[in-house]
Amino acid sequence: MKDKLPWHDDLWQRLQGSLTQGRLPHALLFAGPSGLGKQAFARRLAYSVLCEHPDASGDACGACRQCLLLKAGSHPDLRLITPEEDSSTIRIDAIRSLVGGNTLSVGEGTHRVFVIEPAHAMGQAAANALLKTLEEPIPGTLLLLVSSAPQKLPITIRSRCQLLRFPTPVEAVALQWLERNGLSVQEAKLALRHAGGAPLQAAELASTGRLEEQQALMHDFLSLAKGRSNVPALAETWLKQQELEPLLVLVGRWLLQLLRAKFTQAEEKEVPALQSLRDSVDLKELYVLLDRLHEVRRMSTNNLNAQLALESILLQWSHITKGVN
Ligand SMILES: [Zn+2]
Repeated sequence: MKDKLPWHDDLWQRLQGSLTQGRLPHALLFAGPSGLGKQAFARRLAYSVLCEHPDASGDACGACRQCLLLKAGSHPDLRLITPEEDSSTIRIDAIRSLVGGNTLSVGEGTHRVFVIEPAHAMGQAAANALLKTLEEPIPGTLLLLVSSAPQKLPITIRSRCQLLRFPTPVEAVALQWLERNGLSVQEAKLALRHAGGAPLQAAELASTGRLEEQQALMHDFLSLAKGRSNVPALAETWLKQQELEPLLVLVGRWLLQLLRAKFTQAEEKEVPALQSLRDSVDLKELYVLLDRLHEVRRMSTNNLNAQLALESILLQWSHITKGVN
């Protein structure tokens, strides 16, 4: 099965254990960086729950009536709730449609599964509507919330879901998987470094040619450290290429790599250009910048001025790296 990713094995077995004992919580929050296959995992779990004859590992059989409906994308008891086209938010109507009405009538079997992805795209009103379901669970209903930015979810939502953190896989496992998917050893290593260790993202970077684009962004970021760029102009250029959130994720990843480099001597795993800054950046200042970045990410809703937000981060970066040659 394509969705079976080797680094999910532990989590999968844990959840299957709960499922067979009938102790699976009614709401799960899958959290972790993009590119780890959280959504594929949610789908795999939904299929497992809805299938009539799961195999020994708990995976859907692929042949029963439920599985055929799932394959056709027309199973009445599985619903994916995502932002509508041309929008970045999940509307309250979408949540109300699952909360309200025929709460007791289950379509095909005894279970219903709702996948909300990305969960942090719910606005305040949508989140409030969902809260009702979380407080009074509907029997037989499994809610799967998927988010790469769970800190943006209201605490009331987070506290009512069982949190499952998706860890970044061990490098060897990720590389092996990338090579099996057609990347050369060198390509796999480079892409994985730029993807912060997230295999699906590495595969995407390699296949779409976005690796070069990302390398160029890192080059800009490093030239800022050497005092060679103008912050407002750079922020403007970047925002023409990408939205604020993915840019902040990228910068956050570089800062974390730099932080790791300061603690370990494992030069192999990191991008060499970042390694070179290891001794020139103060640890405390690096933490302050990371805090600031998280704060901006938490606030980064539609009413935040993206240009100013990005400038403030880049400016602080250029300050803490001042004098680096
Ligand atoms: Zn089946």
